[in-house]
Amino acid sequence: MFSGKKSGFVAIVGRPNVGKSTLMNQMVGQKVAIMSDKPQTTRNRIQGILTKEEGQIIFIDTPGIHKPKSKLGDYMVRIADNALKEVDLILFVIDAAEKMGTGEQYIMERLKSVKTPVYLVINKIDKVHPNDLLPLIDHYRSEMEFAEIIPVSALNGNNLNPLIQSIFKALPEGPFYYPSDTYTDHPERFIAAELIREKALHLLREEVPHSLAVVIEEYKERESGNLYIHAVIYCERNSQKGILIGKNGTMLKEIGRRAREDMENLFGTRVFLELWVKVKEDWRNEERLLKNFGYQE
Ligand code: GDP
Ligand code: MG
Repeated sequence: MFSGKKSGFVAIVGRPNVGKSTLMNQMVGQKVAIMSDKPQTTRNRIQGILTKEEGQIIFIDTPGIHKPKSKLGDYMVRIADNALKEVDLILFVIDAAEKMGTGEQYIMERLKSVKTPVYLVINKIDKVHPNDLLPLIDHYRSEMEFAEIIPVSALNGNNLNPLIQSIFKALPEGPFYYPSDTYTDHPERFIAAELIREKALHLLREEVPHSLAVVIEEYKERESGNLYIHAVIYCERNSQKGILIGKNGTMLKEIGRRAREDMENLFGTRVFLELWVKVKEDWRNEERLLKNFGYQE
């Protein structure tokens, strides 16, 4: 059906500074995520897209999972947690030169709670002697089960091709979600869609089950710096549409108001949000398309 091509979503998780962004950029071949030696540079979900003969991999470079200390920290952890459930594969990246610490253990606790397969990617092997890898691998293996364990150096590209091949093997057959010359997407678009979804689920809880998807139809930065966002909430039945819109549109207005407030805080700019509700039966069959992108261009 998809002519044998593989495609899917791969989350990159790990403590800050282990080289997640470097790894993703190297695999994608473009600088799509900001890298730095300061932890937590990556605030939002960032996607890098790799298209090859074998198929298409969409990487989600998550904010470092860590114990939240601030509101923004909470938010980042939440995004990372959501990413873990939605993806086909997780790359858990560690620094070969560092012993397993509470940070890694905290992350592994989270990883154990999802069903998604996990690869242990031991990064920065250029910094250690090969003999030091075995005890490290043993230690991690004794903590949890990994589908693969792959040592790499993101910085000099060492062993990245075997990693990519192994990822393709793990992915299901599927369509290309992006044109083959696309390397990244605007992270704020996802955040915007996720925020709207979150507000809707929060306000409606029981009435509308998790059969919602948010699609960002238009995302424009105006000359003034303000953002114009046109989004559509998809549900599966007319009855749900009624609930989402609410009496005289009050529910939809409230969803929009809350989402807009969060966006303005996060993006630091004024946001004009236009929100629509549409019924699309059986959108779940396209769930990942809708949920993860909110748009196709
Ligand atoms: P993130 O916080 O996990 O996204 O980490 P970054 O990708 O921003 O990298 C953090 C630091 O580690 C940067 O200074 C990178 O240059 C460095 N780094 C990343 N990968 C490697 C590697 O394979 N070897 C070495 N020696 N340094 C690396
Ligand atoms: Mg990063």
